Amino acid sequence: MAIPYNKRSHRCGELRGCDIDKQVLLAGWVNAARDHGGVVFVDIRDHTGVTQLRFNPAPTGGAHETAQRLHNEDVIAVTGRVLSRGEWVNPKMPTGEIEVEVDQIEVLSECAPLPFQLNDEFETSEETRLRYRYIDLRRPEMQEVLRLRHRVARAIREYFHENDFIEVETPFLTKSTPEGARDYLVPSRVQPGSFFALPQSPQIFKQLLMIAGYDRYAQIVRCFRDEDLRADRQPEFTQLDLEMAFVQREDVMAMVEGSAKRIFKDALGVEITTPLPRMTEEEAMERFGIDRPDTRFGMELKDVTEFMGEVDFKVFREAIDQGGVVKCLVAKQAESLTRKITDGLTEEIRGIGGAGLPLVKVNKGDNGVTFSTGVAKFLQPICAKLCEQVGADPGDVIFFMTGTFADVSKYLHYLRTRLATILDVIPKDRWDLLWVIDFPLVVWDEEEQRWFSTHHPFTAPLDEDIPLLDTDPGKVRDKAYDLVLNGIEIAGGSIRIHRQDVQRKIFSLLGIGPEEAKEKFEFLLEALRFGAPPHGGIAYGLDRWVMMLSGSESIRDVIAFPKTQRAVCPLTGAPGPVSQAQLDELYLSLKALPGS
Ligand code: ASP
Repeated sequence: MAIPYNKRSHRCGELRGCDIDKQVLLAGWVNAARDHGGVVFVDIRDHTGVTQLRFNPAPTGGAHETAQRLHNEDVIAVTGRVLSRGEWVNPKMPTGEIEVEVDQIEVLSECAPLPFQLNDEFETSEETRLRYRYIDLRRPEMQEVLRLRHRVARAIREYFHENDFIEVETPFLTKSTPEGARDYLVPSRVQPGSFFALPQSPQIFKQLLMIAGYDRYAQIVRCFRDEDLRADRQPEFTQLDLEMAFVQREDVMAMVEGSAKRIFKDALGVEITTPLPRMTEEEAMERFGIDRPDTRFGMELKDVTEFMGEVDFKVFREAIDQGGVVKCLVAKQAESLTRKITDGLTEEIRGIGGAGLPLVKVNKGDNGVTFSTGVAKFLQPICAKLCEQVGADPGDVIFFMTGTFADVSKYLHYLRTRLATILDVIPKDRWDLLWVIDFPLVVWDEEEQRWFSTHHPFTAPLDEDIPLLDTDPGKVRDKAYDLVLNGIEIAGGSIRIHRQDVQRKIFSLLGIGPEEAKEKFEFLLEALRFGAPPHGGIAYGLDRWVMMLSGSESIRDVIAFPKTQRAVCPLTGAPGPVSQAQLDELYLSLKALPGS
């Protein structure tokens, strides 16, 4: 007899001791089946959990025989009575007090031999998991991640709705919106030879919405950036994008802090304290060598350039003469750092372009501290002074780096992060949120011999720095703010330029000449002439938020159907070739492909 599976009495993770003796109807997937040569036990699973089903050999009208033939991931519906497990209670399972003695079973759908078992995720290649993503997503961890993602999105929507933001959809088929990546292009059939670009962000549209008088806009929106993929990037990803009119930096930051509080509370039940700390980009670079510092642990960078004049060490001396710096970091109580480990770190630093990794060990001497190993013989004369300055004690190791400020920052940041893992100094379950502000508006690119925006070309300079735009652009700071969580940038935004003359000036500083500005951004420049209120906003990388909150290793683990690192989708096979007819319709012809 068919079981009315649309009338489930419970979900598979719901039954408890108080349900004993109830008649129930469950439906779900076979998680595991065990034939104990008499009684057959089957675990039935849905998104809420697992219940043990008991099939007695008789007299259940064929149910026992059906149970013997089940495969993992068959879809079944059962009816039966809830029994106590008696002495076989399993305290590890939420439903472990009970089991369901089945009187009827119906197989709703049989499962073919599986490409991988659900509990085999470590054995299974990511390619295979993504190829059969619908099976992979059945795993309880993946179920939980996407549900956490939903809770985050919901908390965000509710919060911004309560604060008078409206959600407006902005176009996907549009013009290039520069955020520093390549565009994904879509050919137009009706305008042969013309292309749309998929938005790298809704940046310009949200600014236009402020000019249009909507006051507060927030949208959970997909963005597209064609860039070389790293572990935490995807060609399409989701932002919570927002913009507010008549605001200063503090207003946007306060609004974001409120939302962060809400997200942490609703998604994880964690209380965070606001206002969040703020740090200038200059201070972050000085202390941590990076503009998104992980402040959960110390090992801060110390500038010791001034001490090096007193020692006879050519490497440092030469770097300083060329305008470089010497900085160090102290690994506390680092006896566990063997020669093998420090040699390995030196190799790693070389691998990312560094020259070497001078170090000394700090020891207890007869009259205070002494240095040993590495560059000890050069630095011994300043040992006591240096240790005092950088807070080094016996048992510590001091690592040095010399070169340009940018290089030293890069390598010491790398080292700091690696040492934190090796020495296991990162506290668990800690959420360090922090604002980084006052970035340089533009940075000089030696290779291309031109200025680039640190954020994007619509970011406003600090008012007091505007005169420097003509004389010393590299010194101009901006009205941007990045939100950093445990060393990961999870949101970034700014107050925008709302004056056409300033916007033109920035375009020309960035080498976007009048012609190019006209072609690419005329519509924005024009809009700025028709009553643009002061405005600003921010965008959160929603995938990164969920990745951090769920403790996932990769951004791909928090996206239902992600692309691989080669930007393909193994499930659908996208991207794929198209027919000649489609190409013809678009007036496109393909060049010979590399290697063909
Ligand atoms: N459009 C920026 C981005 O996508 C965010 C912002 O400035 O609001 O990173």
